[in-house]
Amino acid sequence: MSVELRVDRQRWQEHLNKTVASTPGIVPVIKGNGYGFGRSALFAEATRLEVPLIAVGTYDEAIEALDRFAGDIMVLNPWRPFLTDVPTDDRIIHTVGRIDDVAQLAAGQTGARVVVEGETSMARHGLNRHEISGAVAVLGDLDVQGFALHLPMAGDNVDEATQWAAALELSQLRTSTLFVSHLLPDETEQLRRRRENLTIRSRIGTALWLGELAALTVTATVIDSHQVERGEKIGYRQRPMPRDGRVLIIEGGTSHGIGLEAPRAASGVVQRGKFLAKGSLAAAGLTRSPFEIGGKQRWFAEPPHMQSSMVFVPESVEPPEVGDQVSVAVRFTTTTFDRIVFD
Ligand SMILES: *Cc1c(COP(=O)(O)O)cnc(C)c1O
Repeated sequence: MSVELRVDRQRWQEHLNKTVASTPGIVPVIKGNGYGFGRSALFAEATRLEVPLIAVGTYDEAIEALDRFAGDIMVLNPWRPFLTDVPTDDRIIHTVGRIDDVAQLAAGQTGARVVVEGETSMARHGLNRHEISGAVAVLGDLDVQGFALHLPMAGDNVDEATQWAAALELSQLRTSTLFVSHLLPDETEQLRRRRENLTIRSRIGTALWLGELAALTVTATVIDSHQVERGEKIGYRQRPMPRDGRVLIIEGGTSHGIGLEAPRAASGVVQRGKFLAKGSLAAAGLTRSPFEIGGKQRWFAEPPHMQSSMVFVPESVEPPEVGDQVSVAVRFTTTTFDRIVFD
């Protein structure tokens, strides 16, 4: 009775093994909700996979990782002078992206290991091209483990990465390692061919942990079921039902991260207009839920509640029974499962 993730362990691990084997220098990323699995499970997998280096998002996650993973830990969020609780363990690799930060870290933590980040068109963090030499000038005893790029998911990433690789090679930075994020495998290969003297290492989360969705099954339990008529008002908002059918109460709501995203299919005025023209449920102000019944994602009868959701199923569809499990099309990086079962 819950929102449950079942993992076909063998199939999942085969995918992990294959991905690690085919991605030389891979740096598995373990952050946030642990891509749905929880961070602990992923630290254990990183250990099983015998990778020497992982990346985490924050220093809090790094402190946790120090206890659960024996190798090196790169922190993706940049080091800042105002951070408290920054571990001094020499397995930690800091990310630096401002000249002043480089100088302050060098002064405060002699010999600390760092990657220097370049600000790509992503515009998240990092030095711009003209600042690299300024950073080199204040590096002091910092131990430079590489240069890092976080690329956007659209656009010509290989060209952008190649330009940065050239800037790295022209710089006085004492490293020939380039860490990249969001370069696809064939793009990474292209970059390798263009810059053979660099060691390119990919930081990968989604394509690794969530790259074999067939190994993952998400279900939720139907906990109640009510017949409704067209026009009948239900829920907190007393919204009239668009047709005759059933309202199912299914476990899983906002506390699981369900329904927190604007459903793409029904967003935007034009889309809504199209739905209106078709006389669909979107026109009635309903949004699509992730719960699948009769082979389709059904509509929320109203916005999800904290621990459960009200889902409308038209009369033409055979409804599940109370106690049945239905499958749920979740976004793993925003979902908190009640239970994770490794088969
Ligand atoms: C989260 C993150 C990654 C991993 O992203 P995925 O899309 O999950 O592979 C890589 N690099 C940086 C800087 C990140 O923040």
